[in-house]
Amino acid sequence: MNEAQIARIIQQVTANLSSELKSSEMKSVYPSPPAIFTRPRTDGGRGVHATVDQAVQAAHQAFQALRDCSLANREKYIQAMRRVMLSELQTLAKMAVEETGLGRVSDKIEKNRLVANKTPGTEALQPNAWSGDHGLTLTEWAPYGVIGSITPCTNPTETILNNGIGMIAAGNAVVFNTHPNAKKVSAYFIDILNEAVEKEGGPANLLNCIANPTLETANDLMKHPKIRLLTVTGGGGVVKAAMASGKRAIAAGPGNPPVIVDETADIAKAAKDIVFGASLDNNIICIVEKEIIAVAEIADSLKRSLLSSNAVEIKGRDLKKLEQLLITPDNHVNKDFVGKNADFILSQVGIHVPDTTRIAFAEVEENHPFVQHEMLLPVLGLVRVPDVDEAIACAVRVEHGYGHTSVMHSSNIHSLSKMARAANTSIFVKNAPSAAGVGLGGEGFTSWTIASPTGEGLTYAPHFARARRCILKDAFRIV
Ligand code: NAD
Repeated sequence: MNEAQIARIIQQVTANLSSELKSSEMKSVYPSPPAIFTRPRTDGGRGVHATVDQAVQAAHQAFQALRDCSLANREKYIQAMRRVMLSELQTLAKMAVEETGLGRVSDKIEKNRLVANKTPGTEALQPNAWSGDHGLTLTEWAPYGVIGSITPCTNPTETILNNGIGMIAAGNAVVFNTHPNAKKVSAYFIDILNEAVEKEGGPANLLNCIANPTLETANDLMKHPKIRLLTVTGGGGVVKAAMASGKRAIAAGPGNPPVIVDETADIAKAAKDIVFGASLDNNIICIVEKEIIAVAEIADSLKRSLLSSNAVEIKGRDLKKLEQLLITPDNHVNKDFVGKNADFILSQVGIHVPDTTRIAFAEVEENHPFVQHEMLLPVLGLVRVPDVDEAIACAVRVEHGYGHTSVMHSSNIHSLSKMARAANTSIFVKNAPSAAGVGLGGEGFTSWTIASPTGEGLTYAPHFARARRCILKDAFRIV
């Protein structure tokens, strides 16, 4: 090799190094575009498969390998999964908003952070023991094997991590049929979660998905003989399909959470809390306030407080125009506006408000579509009722028996207790934004699969485990 050739090689290596350095410097300030956008994933990003059967077989192998791992190692893999989420908050939130067209990046970052920090892991699987004259009986939590999970486009990465941690904590592997409108961000996330688990020495393919999920692949997953348990999170259609599948199903369905404000409430705080909850991720979250029920005595004062908390009121001809925009002639919600910012929605009917506007509200009758429908966008109906008893009755009616979530602002413990019993919802939040119900600013763990139809409520590791009892007769009692 002559000197000129050596010089050329040195020049080339230096150029490569400096371009790598530049891209890693950029990454620390602003993440470079995720690999998913530049390479096809059907050939097997980690855990990303072309068919349901391939995904289930890979998950089954991972499950077998996980059986040989200690509990401490399981917990190590889960910690690695949490760290991946926390280090990719910005990228994942941006990808989800870009791909689904729903929600707000800043809110998704907080949702994802909450899931990483407050989803219970192996510590939630406490054994039970009974000891007495007849010896010792022990109950421990065993895995099902491979779980099939169907996830929504409204919380794509939140549901993957939340389900994933709970399911792996209980010793399972999982195959996700993700929402077709969120398949890229989901596959990207599953790839890097598996990478993190493998780096800790864990099995490959603990988390899996189908590269091109469809309703057909969802049904294949539901029917696959190696799927022991289904967990579905979404609207009424998927809940019905899962419950008719013949498999054991944990089904988390739609809601239409009412928020009541009565005459004893702290009105200014109630207004702030409502705007915070109802505007989170532009109202696409199943648990957030979807209609306001105000007792007449404080209704005007509540409206004034809403107006000073980044909400705007829509009335008269503007309201008519907004109804026409958001409700289709056959009385459905116009999907084009689901999860969009309030100022954007209003601009479509010629109403221009600052981009700091978080929600719009309109005083309407109880039978108005803004009250009756699960709108999943930041425009809420407000119903004025004569007293707290009528408020409770109205809230129960408009919740439609989903048994999902309800909220109330009141300082009267009798009224709060009455509502708690009447609403009969999996989550009932008192004097706080709805989000406190999933641990955002409230006590308790978080869950993004709230199974009201099948009764588990906020799902976590024990729901993904089989209880197994072991008995030793007449021995092992130590006193
Ligand atoms: P969606 O029902 O359109 O889709 C959810 C998932 O189910 C997707 O993966 C979709 O492909 C699949 N799916 C839909 N119909 C199906 C069918 N008939 N058979 C098999 N699979 C089917 O819901 P979305 O728009 O993604 O999410 C919003 C809805 O989900 C809202 O109604 C919201 O309240 C609900 N949700 C509930 C919870 C909860 O914890 N209860 C959490 C998030 C979302």
